[in-house]
Amino acid sequence: MKILITGGAGFIGSHLAERLIREGHDVTALDDLSTGRRENLVSIAAHPRFRLVEGSVLDTDLVEDLVDACDLVFHLAAAVGVKLIMEQPSRSILTNVGGTEAVLKAALRDRKPVFVASTSEVYGKSTRLPFHEDDDLVIGATRNLRWSYASAKQIDEFLALAFAREADLPVVILRFFNTTGPRQTGRYGMVVPNFVQAALEDRPLTVHGDGQQSRCFGHVADVVEALVRLMDCDAARGRVFNIGNDQEVTIRALAERIIAMTGSNAPIIHVPYESVYPEGFEDMARRIPDVSRLEQTIGFRPRRGLDEIIA
Ligand code: NAD
Repeated sequence: MKILITGGAGFIGSHLAERLIREGHDVTALDDLSTGRRENLVSIAAHPRFRLVEGSVLDTDLVEDLVDACDLVFHLAAAVGVKLIMEQPSRSILTNVGGTEAVLKAALRDRKPVFVASTSEVYGKSTRLPFHEDDDLVIGATRNLRWSYASAKQIDEFLALAFAREADLPVVILRFFNTTGPRQTGRYGMVVPNFVQAALEDRPLTVHGDGQQSRCFGHVADVVEALVRLMDCDAARGRVFNIGNDQEVTIRALAERIIAMTGSNAPIIHVPYESVYPEGFEDMARRIPDVSRLEQTIGFRPRRGLDEIIA
């Protein structure tokens, strides 16, 4: 197939592009290189079935041309990263909603399948664990500093599902949970690369609060495996999927494991949330995906553990 990946020079997008090239597909990556990097694509840059188009998903003419020339779209382009979104909240709304609308509209002409990247953040501050795809989403209910990102992704989902319902567009919503692995940089506040980098340089690993908040980290190779299987699964069309690993680790335990695995002499220090975030900031205590729908649909669930991710 001819496959378009928006955000294809990014962390997840570049791993997906490599995998699709290996599977024999033609891949076009559309990326404005805002957080994505050409270096992410070195292994396939010169491949005859690969092409990187530097441009924006907000350029509707360009998006139309690229979608017209493909059979299927993975729409991963988005303004991401805690720091970026804190500094420029409206950028998430403009890029994420405008970009998704441009892709969906272009895909509608020939009813091309579109896989839309969403996020676990659409579950907001829910304490009903694990998060299930049928849980209610309430726009703006996240009440944290990434409200613009979470709200924009919620709107993306509603837009995509409206195109599916009203125009029979085959869309699949991908709610990614924390995904990590090679090439993810710590530039935008991602905890695993930040801790690994600090440990390798014997600098302190800075944990916010008491470190008892937990997350579930999925390996990017598992996430890509899920995407490739969903792509080939007709039963997935029109549906929403949690994509992540459901093994939980506290941030303190993550820091300790990274120090042990790197043999680092770095200390772990704890800083109050108030010293990093504005007053009133509330972190999520836990965030766990229910991945039973994914497993039932494609016969696969992310399993690579923390040690493999850190390695
Ligand atoms: P990333 O920053 O590496 O990828 C996003 C890509 O989109 C980058 O290459 C960036 O340059 C590109 N981009 C941004 N604005 C663009 C625009 N206007 N036009 C074209 N390209 C543009 O981050 P990632 O982790 O690979 O994220 C990929 C997708 O997965 C995003 O939609 C993100 O919201 C979602 N997601 C990721 C995670 C995670 O843990 N990594 C979790 C939840 C959701």
